[in-house]
Amino acid sequence: MGKINLLSQETIDKIAAGEVVERPASVAKELIENSIDAGATAISVEIKGGGIEYLRITDNGSGIDKDQIQIAFLRHSTSKIEDAADLANVRSLGFRGEALSSISAVAKVELITKTKDSLLGASYIIEGAKEVSLTDIGAPNGTTFIIRQLFFNTPARKKFLKSESTEGSYVFDVVEHLALSHPEISFKFLLNGKEKLMTSGNGVLSDTIYQIYGRQIASNVLEINYKDERVSINGFIGKSVIARGNRAFEHFFVNNRYIKSNNLSRACEEGYYGFLMGHQHPFFVININFEDGAVDVNVHPTKQEVRFEDEAFILEILTKVINDRLRKREDVLEAHIDE
Ligand code: ADP
Ligand code: MG
Repeated sequence: MGKINLLSQETIDKIAAGEVVERPASVAKELIENSIDAGATAISVEIKGGGIEYLRITDNGSGIDKDQIQIAFLRHSTSKIEDAADLANVRSLGFRGEALSSISAVAKVELITKTKDSLLGASYIIEGAKEVSLTDIGAPNGTTFIIRQLFFNTPARKKFLKSESTEGSYVFDVVEHLALSHPEISFKFLLNGKEKLMTSGNGVLSDTIYQIYGRQIASNVLEINYKDERVSINGFIGKSVIARGNRAFEHFFVNNRYIKSNNLSRACEEGYYGFLMGHQHPFFVININFEDGAVDVNVHPTKQEVRFEDEAFILEILTKVINDRLRKREDVLEAHIDE
C-alpha cells in the first residue's frame, strides 16, 4: 500500500464536490433551490452546450451582501440552520452549506448580486476554488450565477457526462420539477437561446401544468385533495387517455421537494388498477405534506430520497385517494362529454 498521505484541501474539496455535483442538472438544482430559498418570485435559467459550457441562473431574491460572499463559498457555510436541532424542522430546500463550495471547486463561477439595502452590487469570480476577484458593480436586486466549463479541472469526471443534448434534457427536467412544485414562482428556461418553458407564477398548479405540458394534458387531469391530522395530499392525476409507457410523468413532491420513490409509484399505480393497461404509467403531480418531523429529508446530499416515519400508512392512503377519485361517477360522465 505504501506511504499514507494526508490529502490537500484542494483534493478534499474536489472529492467532496463529487457528492453534490454530478452533472449540470445537479448544479442547476442547487442554484435554483438557493434562489427559491432567497424568496425569488422569478427565476430564469439559461444553458448552452448542455449546461457543461454555460449555465446561468438569475433570480430576483434577497441577494447576498458583499461582505458575506466569500463566506458563502466556504464548505459547510449556510444561513439556513444554526445547529442540529434545526434539522428536524428544515423549511428551506438547502441547509448543508455545500453547494457553492462544491460547484466552485469544479467550475468557473461568476456571481453578480445585490441586496435591496445596498446601493451597489458585487461581482465575484472564483475558478476551481481559487478566488479571482471581488469588485463593486452596478446590478439589479437579486442574484445571477454563471457557471462555465463544468469539470474543467476534473477531466475524469467530465468523461462520465453524457451528450450535450442528454445533459441539457436533465437540466430541463430539473427546471420542470421545480416549476411544478412552485406554481407561485415564474420560471423561464432557455436552451441554446430558445425559450423552452415559461410559467406565470400565478400560484395555480393547474395553470402551471398547462404552461408546461400543454392543453392535451391539462384538460385531462383530475384534482385530488386529502387531509388528516398527519398528512395532506393534493395535486392532479391524469385520466387514462394521457397514460405513458414510462414513469417520466409521475411527479411526487414531499414537503415541497421533488423525490423519486418506487414504493410511492407502485402505490399510485395500484390506485389505477382497472383503469390502465399493464404496461401503461399514469401522469400525475402529487404534493404530499407532512407535519414537522414525520419525514426525514437528510438522507443524501442530492436529497432525492426521503424517509417516512410510517411509509405503509402513506402508501395505503395514496392508493385509496387515487382509486376513489378515478371511481367517482362524475368523471365517467365527464369523460363521455369530452369525447
Ligand atoms: P445552503 O443552501 O445549504 O445554505 P449553499 O452553498 O447552497 O448552502 O449556499 C450558501 C449560502 O449562500 C446560503 O445559505 C445563502 O445564504 C447564500 N446564497 C446562495 N445562493 C443565493 C441566492 N441565489 N440568493 C441569496 N443568497 C444566496
Ligand atoms: Mg443551497
